[in-house]
Amino acid sequence: MWRSRSGRDRETVTCIACGSSLARSAAREYDKYGDRWDRNDKTFEYLCKECHADLCHQPRTELESLLVEIDAGDHDSEAFLEWYCALVEERYGPLEEN
Ligand SMILES: [Zn+2]
Repeated sequence: MWRSRSGRDRETVTCIACGSSLARSAAREYDKYGDRWDRNDKTFEYLCKECHADLCHQPRTELESLLVEIDAGDHDSEAFLEWYCALVEERYGPLEEN
């Protein structure tokens, strides 16, 4: 065990898609609300590069209709995320499948 002088760089985060741990500096911030500009009082979730790339390959237009389909705005974030993941998995297959 050793300590780093710059603890911030050593911080690890967990990819919300595949569950792997990675350095925060190597992770991609993911905001489930799609609003990455309002940073006040927020905790971002993280995706590893692979999962982030996977997400970006999914068609945006469909994504939007998916959000409408599950009434994205009418549910609390946890319920929404659950539904969203289930729906995306149903349509596109498991995210961890490469
Ligand atoms: Zn991942």
